[in-house]
Amino acid sequence: MLLAIVAFSSWIAHQLEQGIEVVDIYLNKAHFPVTVLGPGKRIGLWLQGCSLRCRGCVSRDTWDRDDSHKISVELLLDWCKSVSADGLDGVTISGGEPFEQPEALLVLLQGLTDWRNSLSQPFDILCYSGLPYSVLENNFANLLGFMDAIIPEPFLEDRPADGPWRGSDNQPLLVLSEFGKSRDWQITDSPGGRHMQFVTDDERIWFIGVPRPGDMERLRGRLLEQGIELSSCSWKA
Ligand code: SF4
Repeated sequence: MLLAIVAFSSWIAHQLEQGIEVVDIYLNKAHFPVTVLGPGKRIGLWLQGCSLRCRGCVSRDTWDRDDSHKISVELLLDWCKSVSADGLDGVTISGGEPFEQPEALLVLLQGLTDWRNSLSQPFDILCYSGLPYSVLENNFANLLGFMDAIIPEPFLEDRPADGPWRGSDNQPLLVLSEFGKSRDWQITDSPGGRHMQFVTDDERIWFIGVPRPGDMERLRGRLLEQGIELSSCSWKA
């Protein structure tokens, strides 16, 4: 961790010396490879901050924003390139509500697009949003122009979705680009079911994926039976 902070500080100093504008983004977490939020092997980026407060949201840890979540977009892009040097199929941007950071999201999308244009095998960009698609079209057409697909609309707890990637059945997967049309968005490594990924650090377990209603509480109960108590959970108030 110390090494990362030192590297980050010197990188910032270098940017300032060069007169390069540093654009920050609020980030909850980033992970690679993610295989449960879109087809193939993907980078997952969870942006921090969401004012929508959907009932039944399992990502309440992404709601509140403070400076501890800030990271330079350039540094995040560097991280994306370093972890996926052997190739990737896509980048999934989730949250939080990504469109609540439109300026930073634009810089991130521009950087991802420049990067993929330099690759012989481009990756796709899929974004989640809890905003209605009509709102996104009217207010953020510039951002949609960088995406290959989007899963919009608020999460509705009482309308669970069938099939992969979507949280509730009011949330469509909309293909936005010609490149997106060439992708098979239904390919999943868990046909007929839902897989979750688990990532641990010293104190936390991250659950990645789109659980069905009640899945997380069932999991918590099973862990408790094994003697593992989760002291705080992102899906509980
Ligand atoms: S489901 Fe998504 S949009 Fe809704 S409150 Fe949770 S993070 Fe925000």
